[in-house]
Amino acid sequence: MSPPVRVLFLAGSGRSGSTLVTTILGQLDGFFAAGELRYFWQRGLVDNRPCGCGLPLRECPVWTGIRAGLPPIPPADIAAHLRTRLRLKRLPALLRRRAVAPHPDDAAITALYSAIAAQSEAVVIVDSSKLPPYGVLLGGLPGVEMRVLHVVRDPRAAAFSWRRKRALDGAADARQMTRHPVWKAAALWAVWNAATIRLWARKAPGGYLRVRYEDLMASPAETIRRIADFAGAAPGTALPFTADGLVTLGTTHSVAGNPSRHRVGGVPVQADDEWRRSLPRRSHALVTALTAPLLLGLGYRLGRRTR
Ligand SMILES: [Zn+2]
Repeated sequence: MSPPVRVLFLAGSGRSGSTLVTTILGQLDGFFAAGELRYFWQRGLVDNRPCGCGLPLRECPVWTGIRAGLPPIPPADIAAHLRTRLRLKRLPALLRRRAVAPHPDDAAITALYSAIAAQSEAVVIVDSSKLPPYGVLLGGLPGVEMRVLHVVRDPRAAAFSWRRKRALDGAADARQMTRHPVWKAAALWAVWNAATIRLWARKAPGGYLRVRYEDLMASPAETIRRIADFAGAAPGTALPFTADGLVTLGTTHSVAGNPSRHRVGGVPVQADDEWRRSLPRRSHALVTALTAPLLLGLGYRLGRRTR
């Protein structure tokens, strides 16, 4: 039997910087930035949405090589089954059992990770799926060694980001990314982060590391080094940062995720803290109230200012 495939699973809630973390990690030797693999079957294979490299996924040579290693199950079927299996209303049962019921599709899902490892020759596959039920399913697959990277961001910043209008796949795309009202963004933040902590903070079989988006912005190289060491990068692996505070991004072949995954070249690493000035007072109060205990537990303050 071949050795297990190591997967760095990014957990947490949406709009917390996981796309940026994935793209940066994808620049490291031995890492493959796969993106949100829970969407591979639907958005990738069925909808043929763009790969991180810009080509429609079915035309990307990297994914063509990976697809050759998959069993002939219709991707639309796997996608439909996943939607049912990962429903958020099943979360309470999932938190108790810490397992997603096995399914015949699991062989194809396992094959996806093995095929990525074989095609990319990467030691670490970075999967930014985040959804806690998908992480439970992934961690239970024989042949996968999962390490959990929990990326958290101030919930007021995440809620502010969820309100923004943003094209789904770059400026030319007329479709918009999903937007949520602030109460829903706050509820999702609380549920996803609480579930992540409950599931993995103390009991992740392959290990658990939590990083804050704000710490990544304040000390990018130091934070990425911590993540790389946690993921099992070779000692001394070079990081893509330049002396003037830029990160040099090359093309990745990531599935789904924030449109920023298409950015290449020297990109400044800067905190996006427009929410501190522009999030309306009532929205700020509502998000703070809905997330308060966890927000404090993760080291954030109730007010708007950093200190
Ligand atoms: Zn590609």
